[in-house]
Amino acid sequence: MTFRLDRLPLSRRGFLEAAAAAVAAGHIPNIFPQTTAPKIPISDARPRRISEHLFVLEDTCNVYLIRDGDHGVLIDFGSGMILKHLSDLGVGKIDWILHTHHHRDQAQGDAVAVAQGIPIAVPAHERHLFGDVERFWRNRRIFELYQVRNDFFSLIENVPVSAALRDYERFRWRGHEFFVQPTPGHTIGSISLITTVDGHKAAFTGDLIYSPGKVQTLYDLQYYYQEHEGVDFSIYSLAQLCKLTPDTVCPSHGREFSNPIAGMEELSVKLRDWFRYWHPGGSTPTIDYEPVQISRHLIAHPLATSAFYAIISDSGKGMFIDYGSPSWDFFQAFRDATDTYDRMRFVEHAIEKLKSKHGLKSIDVAMPTHIHDDHVNGFPYLAREFGTKIWCYENMVEILENPRGRNLGCLLGEPIRVDRSFKHNETFRWEEFKFTVMHSPGHTDYEMALFTTIDGKRIAFTGDAFLNYDKKGMRHNLIYRNDTKTGDYVTSIRNIAEIQPAIIAPGHGECFSVTPQMVKEFETRVEQQDAFFGELMAYPDTDIGLDPAWVQIYPYQAIAVRGRPIPLEVRVRNHRKAALKLEIALCLPSQWKSTPERVALNVPAGATSKTTIKLTVPLDWREQNGRRAISADIVCNGSYLGQITEAVVDVRSADEEPRAELPV
Ligand SMILES: [Zn+2]
Ligand SMILES: [Zn+2]
Ligand SMILES: [Zn+2]
Repeated sequence: MTFRLDRLPLSRRGFLEAAAAAVAAGHIPNIFPQTTAPKIPISDARPRRISEHLFVLEDTCNVYLIRDGDHGVLIDFGSGMILKHLSDLGVGKIDWILHTHHHRDQAQGDAVAVAQGIPIAVPAHERHLFGDVERFWRNRRIFELYQVRNDFFSLIENVPVSAALRDYERFRWRGHEFFVQPTPGHTIGSISLITTVDGHKAAFTGDLIYSPGKVQTLYDLQYYYQEHEGVDFSIYSLAQLCKLTPDTVCPSHGREFSNPIAGMEELSVKLRDWFRYWHPGGSTPTIDYEPVQISRHLIAHPLATSAFYAIISDSGKGMFIDYGSPSWDFFQAFRDATDTYDRMRFVEHAIEKLKSKHGLKSIDVAMPTHIHDDHVNGFPYLAREFGTKIWCYENMVEILENPRGRNLGCLLGEPIRVDRSFKHNETFRWEEFKFTVMHSPGHTDYEMALFTTIDGKRIAFTGDAFLNYDKKGMRHNLIYRNDTKTGDYVTSIRNIAEIQPAIIAPGHGECFSVTPQMVKEFETRVEQQDAFFGELMAYPDTDIGLDPAWVQIYPYQAIAVRGRPIPLEVRVRNHRKAALKLEIALCLPSQWKSTPERVALNVPAGATSKTTIKLTVPLDWREQNGRRAISADIVCNGSYLGQITEAVVDVRSADEEPRAELPV
């Protein structure tokens, strides 16, 4: 195709006037960058009819148009050339642009669409690379480049986003349904949209596949230095798409092709060979990971991140202990690409194999061993897709249901509603099994050990408290940001000594037999840890030096709507053996108000106390909505400690849609 850059359909002034008119008409919020007018090149390419209501225009990417009466929806937008052809195609109004991924060739003309009042829907996990891409560019590391993934192919200016396309959900338009299948690979947040047009099931697959057996680029499949995660992801994504049995694949580059299963399988085979070539030690693509039968009713999945377990009763009902990401590739790459305001991406895994090979009929209950994202990433999906009930130890409830509340290690940025909770030493029955729950602190305070007998063997599900990664004994770990106290691990190993399980099912790695000797060695080792605490830290009541958050502002990630007071708690854990008398004053951006301005709080020895302060961001606050930090100035028993605690506040207007998937 040829471009004629001299023929711009809109002058800069004309463009800005059009944008302003759209803002005035309420079509778009006025955050559109008023810099240079986007250029719409003119080319000789013309739309081609694929079937009665489906057209494609070869622009910087393939732009697909589905027509319904004189309305249309576009899949990807390229430079926006399609707009010139609409009247020839009998389309008076484009209702939506749906994007498969964030690359510039898919979306460089979006500003023109916004100026014309066309709303844009984007993959949920790439939303920040459209609506907030200028922040991405300010923060993207370029020196010391190890995250080599091609997010450099992002837009250069923000475009307003009207809707997020969420994994496994359906986007509805005039009687059409677009199923959002997560298809990471070409980008981490890529989606495919599956819908029926003219009686054919069409899959709009972005750049997952170029043509039967081919991808357009290999460099897009590399995220971290020297790794090949995108190859692993593409093999997964092609397998999921094959299961959806499309009649036609409509790629973003290359030509649409019918009967696509063979072509997708051909690509998958080649990508597997390429993946093995780079992992000569015998690494397996994630899609081939197999759950392992431990005994008749217990299935382990040690290769998933993290290890998870399915207890399958005689009736076929299942209880999952943890359910995180499919593999380390999926966990690590998704974690590193997760936007500040997003939750880590999750894709379904292992469930079909548990059904076809191990007799699983339903997922009745899921229990987290502890609160960490690598163990609960799949829980919201289980609850939504399968109606799975979520049960947990009692001190996890507040954190799972309101993850914005605390600043702890490894929290998943999506609330998980808890259906039932258990106290320390509580027993319960589920199907033919009897369980005992015990508090098991050390790795994190929000952790349980779950004891039961399955197929004649006493077993303990212990999350990340006791690991066996070098197969030379039980190993532990220490993360101060996880609310660790002196004596925690000693308490937890004594639970094991008391119940004497034959097998420990850990949160990472394979199940292992546990002997009294291993328990004794572990106890000795963690007693040494407590002795180190006593030796190393300044204060005799040592836990002050283990706790970066003995004074907390709660919630840590607050949301403030302008003009509406919000309650913040100041929570104080007193680790000392004497009472504390605190004076507390919030330190805020100018013009913000706290009521009262100063508050006194007495905390008895060894206790936790809290007080409430109201925070107001005034309606007429001059600055933009967004995140600001606040702190609290503290005087403790007469000595001035200063601003020893902090939190962040996301400022919104009353009519602003939440930025993240989190509820207000
Ligand atoms: Zn692309
Ligand atoms: Zn953990
Ligand atoms: Zn873990």
